[in-house]
Amino acid sequence: MKILFAAQGEEPARWLPLLAQSFPDGEFVLAPQADVEAAIVTRPPLPPAGALPRLRFVQSLWMGVDRLLAEATLPAHVPLARCLDPGMIAAMTETVLACVLDWHRDRHRYRRAQAEARWQPLAQHLAADRTVGLLGYGVLGQAAARALAGLGFEVLAWTRKPSASAGVASSADLEHVLAASDILVCLLPLTPATRGLLDRQAFARMKKGAALANLARGEIAVEHDLLAALDERVLSHAYLDVFAEEPLPPAHPFWRHPAVTVTPHVAALTDPRTAAPWVAANLARVARCERPLGLVDRARGY
Ligand code: NAP
Repeated sequence: MKILFAAQGEEPARWLPLLAQSFPDGEFVLAPQADVEAAIVTRPPLPPAGALPRLRFVQSLWMGVDRLLAEATLPAHVPLARCLDPGMIAAMTETVLACVLDWHRDRHRYRRAQAEARWQPLAQHLAADRTVGLLGYGVLGQAAARALAGLGFEVLAWTRKPSASAGVASSADLEHVLAASDILVCLLPLTPATRGLLDRQAFARMKKGAALANLARGEIAVEHDLLAALDERVLSHAYLDVFAEEPLPPAHPFWRHPAVTVTPHVAALTDPRTAAPWVAANLARVARCERPLGLVDRARGY
């Protein structure tokens, strides 16, 4: 099977040897050819559909596919799969833990106290005192939930179907999850239903002094409303990895806000060492005419 590597922003030299090693029957090329049957992509622009008449599978190297789905050149009849890279899933779990522990152990407050040379011990809380709300209980949310529950946090996931997992409570009632959470972690995909979900009304329903970690997509939170919630101390801190405009413009108030921790969309990156064997195995499934893993439901948008 001939496979086009067209992953914007990814260095082919980091991927092709690993892909070829894991899928020796695959022929990987860097330019469109008429007999290409699969394409590896990340984000637009994609190769023109007319240049790949035999295309029957598109493999994303990323877990979020909102930008790909918005691309008109992605042929509607060709299945698209996300990359369920075990390294990326582990990285996101670590980032969730880093945010939750930073807030839980008051490290964000001690950093501010240090900047003012202020010696100010704060009361200690136990993990069991804190409820971590999870918006998005999919591949990433479930992995994070297991790790948080393992540390003794109360975990409350917003789910549409009842979910039974050790140490993780679930609720279909968003208002309940918002009201019960000490720190809210967003791991939702960006879809028409989730765009702008975290707005002024949502923040007003949260506990006073709660925190937010948005590690999913910037457009899920209304930035103006989030800034207001932080300024009015409705929220005590926001860990933001994703933004409506990326890179975050230098003049954006998030950069200098004392209650915001900014990271440049690095919560979890695809790592070729762990992702290439997974991608190669998925391509091998396609070559054998088996159903690939990680298929995106275009109607749902994730
Ligand atoms: P996933 O496995 O598709 O899970 C998505 C979860 O969100 C599912 O539990 C789904 O519920 C839920 N959901 C979707 N729409 C909903 C709605 N309208 N109301 C309630 N729940 C809804 O996705 P994932 O692999 O965990 O990834 C989540 C997102 O993380 C990605 O889409 C991507 O944008 C982001 N991400 C960010 C980074 C980064 O570096 N910042 C890295 C990787 C991924 P159902 O089970 O009911 O469908």
